[in-house]
Amino acid sequence: MPHEAPAAVCEGLVRIYSSPSGEVHALKGVDVVVPAGRVTAITGPSGSGKSSLLRILAAQDRPTAGLAEVAGQSLTGLSTRRLRALRRRSIGYVFARPAQNLAPHLTAREHLAAAARLRGTNGDDAAELLERLGLADRADHLPAQLSGGEQQRLAFAQAVTGRPALLVADEPTSELDSRTTTDLMAAVRGLADAGTTVVLATHDALAAAAADRVVHLRSGTVAHEEVAGRRLAVIDGDGRVQLPADALALFPERRALLEITEDGVVLREPGS
Ligand code: ADP
Ligand code: MG
Repeated sequence: MPHEAPAAVCEGLVRIYSSPSGEVHALKGVDVVVPAGRVTAITGPSGSGKSSLLRILAAQDRPTAGLAEVAGQSLTGLSTRRLRALRRRSIGYVFARPAQNLAPHLTAREHLAAAARLRGTNGDDAAELLERLGLADRADHLPAQLSGGEQQRLAFAQAVTGRPALLVADEPTSELDSRTTTDLMAAVRGLADAGTTVVLATHDALAAAAADRVVHLRSGTVAHEEVAGRRLAVIDGDGRVQLPADALALFPERRALLEITEDGVVLREPGS
């Protein structure tokens, strides 16, 4: 589906928080395209801006500046009421901790029914989703009767009922072991193959490896992307490129001679 419109687009996205000790520039001009029906992983060290980016994509927060578009709607300037409506209709959300996603007194089936009611859909996809996420024989179980991995799979099932445009998950595998992480990512892959768009933040190399595209953040900017096993530098609309740390170390003066050759663009240290 190369010509399908992306599920979400960010351009020059900026998020600045005010705190007692001053401003925190969490996102400093982030360009990201989230292709529809694919799994996009956001990686990067703690504090690099993953959760800030995900909260904006999930319509839980607004950018300070720049463009963020989800399901064809710009989030900039949306009223709180419209933001909430967009969130209900178009976004599924999964928290990191299994217990945060589920209500202890509801069975798996009842979770899906409640999620469908909230979204305003009839929930007729519940049986299919439980099957797809390997929970068909757990439909009448309460969360306490499910393993951590089953609980997270149920969280994904309820988040995608009613076919939201975007499923957003912030570190959904952080409390799972590697075996369960692999199972969960296989289930996420199944959702994407059935047309769901997934964006997840992760520290976990296993989870990132299962994504179609990995966007690596470093201090609030996109350091690079990985698509089909190739690492791509991202060039912003003004022509800025972020050099990887080992390349940056070659330029102690932070100045480069730039030459366009037949093979591409070459950066040289001016002293050389
Ligand atoms: P990550 O999810 O990659 O760890 P975050 O998006 O949570 O990164 O945080 C990015 C930066 O923004 C960090 O420096 C963090 O301390 C800061 N930050 C996040 N949320 C807030 C907030 N509500 N108020 C002030 N600073 C915040
Ligand atoms: Mg985070």
